[in-house]
Amino acid sequence: MKIAILTSGGDSAGMNAVVRSIVKAGILKGCEMWVVREGYEGLVQGNTEAATSVNDQVKSDDQQPVLQQEGVHPDKQLLHNLRFGDGELLKDGTTEFVGGRTLKGRYIVRVGWDDVRGWFSQGGTLIGTARSMTFKTIEGRTAAAFNLIKEGIDALVVCGGDGSLTGADVFRREWPDLVRSLKDQSRITDKQAEQHAHLKVVGLVGSIDNDMCLTDLTIGAPTALQRICEAIDNINSTAYSHSRAFVIEVMGRDCGWLALMAGVAGGADFIFIPERPPSAQPWEDEMCAEIGRHRKLNKRKTIVIVAEGAHDLDLNPIRAEYIKDVLTERLGLDTRVTTLGHTQRGGRPCALDRILPTLQGVEAVDALIESTTETPSYMIGLHENKVVRVPLMEAVAMTRSVATAVKEKNFDKALELRGAEFKEALDGFHHISQAVDERTRLPEEKRMRIAIIHMGAPAGGMNAATRTAARYCIRQGHTPLAIHNGFRGLLDDNVDTLSWLGVDAWMNRGGSELGTNRALPSIDLGGVASKFQEYGFNAVMLIGGFEGFTALQQLEEGRKHYPAFQIPMVHIPATISNNVPMTEYSLGSDTSLNALVDACDAIKQSASASRNRVFVVETQGGKCGYIAALGGLAVGASLVYTPEHGITLDMLRRDVRFLKTRYALDPQGKSEGRLVIRNESSSKVYTTDMITKMLQEEGGTLFDARSASLGHTLQGGIPSPVDRARAARLSLKCMAFLEQHHEKILKASNGHKSRIAPPESAAIIIIQTSSVKMVPVQEMVQHADMVNRRGKDSWWSGAKDLEEQLVGKPQFLGIH
Ligand code: ATP
Repeated sequence: MKIAILTSGGDSAGMNAVVRSIVKAGILKGCEMWVVREGYEGLVQGNTEAATSVNDQVKSDDQQPVLQQEGVHPDKQLLHNLRFGDGELLKDGTTEFVGGRTLKGRYIVRVGWDDVRGWFSQGGTLIGTARSMTFKTIEGRTAAAFNLIKEGIDALVVCGGDGSLTGADVFRREWPDLVRSLKDQSRITDKQAEQHAHLKVVGLVGSIDNDMCLTDLTIGAPTALQRICEAIDNINSTAYSHSRAFVIEVMGRDCGWLALMAGVAGGADFIFIPERPPSAQPWEDEMCAEIGRHRKLNKRKTIVIVAEGAHDLDLNPIRAEYIKDVLTERLGLDTRVTTLGHTQRGGRPCALDRILPTLQGVEAVDALIESTTETPSYMIGLHENKVVRVPLMEAVAMTRSVATAVKEKNFDKALELRGAEFKEALDGFHHISQAVDERTRLPEEKRMRIAIIHMGAPAGGMNAATRTAARYCIRQGHTPLAIHNGFRGLLDDNVDTLSWLGVDAWMNRGGSELGTNRALPSIDLGGVASKFQEYGFNAVMLIGGFEGFTALQQLEEGRKHYPAFQIPMVHIPATISNNVPMTEYSLGSDTSLNALVDACDAIKQSASASRNRVFVVETQGGKCGYIAALGGLAVGASLVYTPEHGITLDMLRRDVRFLKTRYALDPQGKSEGRLVIRNESSSKVYTTDMITKMLQEEGGTLFDARSASLGHTLQGGIPSPVDRARAARLSLKCMAFLEQHHEKILKASNGHKSRIAPPESAAIIIIQTSSVKMVPVQEMVQHADMVNRRGKDSWWSGAKDLEEQLVGKPQFLGIH
C-alpha cells in the first residue's frame, strides 16, 4: 500500500510525532510512505517536476523490503530495510524541509525511515500546513485526486481539526466520481481508474483547542495547556507582588477546554467559557461578588481567564478589556490584560504530545491497512488511556452540534456534548475557586474532620490534590486537618487546620507542602490509633505511592483492634514510579515524564553535537519500568532497559550490534546522538556504568558513550498541568467517596457510639482504561507484587517494544 500523510488547518505540537510514527509504522508494515507538503494545498498543487534520480532509484524493484530473507546476512538485511524508503528528503543528505528549498515543484514526496528522525522535539509541523480554499472546490479536489493517482496513492492520513477531517471525508465520498471524471477526460487510464477505485482515509485530530467530540484529547492540546499554565505561573508572582488582577485571554475558538483546564490547573479565580456563560444577569455582578469575597479573605492576587470565544447568555462577546474595566471600576483593582496569542501554539511538544501521537499514528496505519470499501472513515481518538477508532463523520457531526447548541443558547446541551469529564472539571473548578459560602455547607451532623497525609517520595500534584481537598472541605463545612511529616509527624502532634487562603498558592508547587517520608503506621499502630481518636478524625486521605497503599492496608487491617480506624479512608496514588497496582496513572507520573523529556532533549542535543555519541541515561522508578518505557517512547530512545524485562548478555550483544549497524548507516559526518534509557533496577550486574563502558569499548570509531543519571530531577520542579488537573479531579472524587461512606457508616451505627466501617470504605482511587474507580484495599492487595513493589500487570510493557520497533531494531524488521 502507498500511504500519504498531510497536516492541515492550524498547526499544533505533536503533528511531527504523528508524521514520524506513521512513516515508521507504515514502513514496518511494508507500505510505501509519502508526505504531502502544505496540507490540502499540496495535494491540489501536486508534483510539477519529476522526481530526482534518487527517488527513482528508491522506487526500483531491488529496493523492495527484504524481510526475513533466507541466507542473507542479518546486518545486510537490516541495512537494506533501513535504507528502504529513503526518499527525497535525504537526497542531498539533509532533512531540511523548509519552504520547499530542496523540493521545488514537488508537494507529494516519497519519504523514508531516516527522513523523520529527530522530529519529536520540534513544535509545529515540518511538512507544512495551510488552509486551502481551492480544495473546497470540486476542481481543487479533482486536481488532488489526479495528483495522488499519478503517484499511485490511494490511502490518506489527515491530521488536522474538524474542518480538515470534514474535507477528508468529503474527498473519500466523492472519490469514485472524481476517478470517473478523470477517466472520462482521459487524464488517467482505465487501469489506473480500476486500481484506485476507492480512497482509504483515516483522520487524526491535530488541534490545540481540544474541541473534537469522541476523543478526550486532541494532539497539541496538552502542550498548549502547558504553555498557558507556564504563563499563568509567571503572572502569579507579579500579580501577588503588586496585589493586582490579571485578565488572561486564551485561545480555543468556540471551545472552552483550554480556559477551563487552565483555570483548574492554574488556580484561577474566575473563568469565562462559551459552553457555560455566567448564569447571573448582569454577569458583572456575579464576577465582582466572587472576586470581592476573595479579596475580603485577604487574597492579594486575582486571575481571571477568558476564552477567546466567551460570551454572555445572550451571546454577546465577553472581552478581556471590558472585564478589566469592570474590575478596575467596581472593585478598584489594579487590573492588567494579557493576551497569550500564538505563544500557546508553539514550542516543544510535552511528553503526552509525543507519546499519544505515536500510539495514534500506529493505530492509524493499522486502520488503513484493515480498511475496506464497507468500513467507514475512522478518526483515531483517545478514550481515557485507550487509543480508539471512532467513525470520523460521527465525531465531526457531534462537534458541529456543540456550535449549534451554543448558537441556540442551549448551553446544557453544549456542555453535555463536550462529555462528562468536561462537566466534572467545570463543577470541580467552582468547588475549588469559590470562596466560602454559608449556603454550600452541609448540616452539622454530616460534617467531618478529614485528615490529609502525604506518604513516600514527593510527586507532582500532591499539593494540588491537598489544596483541592482543603478548599472542598471548607466549602462543605468539613475541617481539613494537615498531618505534617507523615505518621511520624502525627505521633509528634504535627497537625494543624488548613485554611482557604493558606493553600491558595499550592496548585503549582512541586514537592510536598505537608512534608513526607516513608514511615508506615506500623511504626506504632496503637499510637497512631490513639492520635486518630485524640484529633477526632472522621475520615483520612492518604496521598502517596506504594507506601500510601501499604499504609492504607495496615490501617484497614488495624480496624480489627482499633475502633479509631473504623472510618472511611482513601488513597490517591502519587508517585513518579507509577508503581501502584491497577492504576494506569499516578499523580506525578506526567510531571516526571516531562522532566525526563526535557533532560533527554538537552542530552540528545549534546550527543548530536558530538556527532557520534551514545548517552546511557539512568532513570529512577525502583522495580517498575514505567518511566523508562514511556520515557523511551517520548524521546525516541534507541534502547530501553526495564526491570520487568531485565538485561541479559544475549540482549546486550544484539543491542551493540544494532547500534554499530545503525551508526554505520548514518551519512558521513551526519551521525546523530542516540539515547539508551536504563531503569536503575534493570540489572544488578549490567549497571549503567558497565553498559556505558561496554559501548565505549565496542563503539570503536563508530561511536563513543557517556552516561547521565537523572536521579531526583525526575520529580520535576513545577508539576505539569495534566498532573494538577488530574489531582483536582481525583481529590474531589475522593472527597465525595469519604462523604458517602461517612454517611453510610453513621446510618449503619444506628445512633450507637461504636461504628463498623465495611472493607470497601478503605479504598484506592484508580484510573483504568476508560474510567475512574475506587478499589477496596483488600482487593488491591491481590494485584500487588509486594516483593518488587509494583503491580502484577503493567499496561505499558508494550511501550518498550513499540519504541524499539520505531527505531528499527532488527528483530522488529523480521531479523533475529
Ligand atoms: P483548526 O482547528 O486549526 O482550525 P481545521 O482543520 O478545523 O483546523 P479549517 O480551516 O476549518 O481548519 O480547515 C482546514 C482545511 O480543510 C481548509 O482550508 C480546507 O482546505 C479543508 N476543508 C475544510 N472544510 C472542508 C470541506 N467542507 N470540504 C472540503 N475541504 C474542507
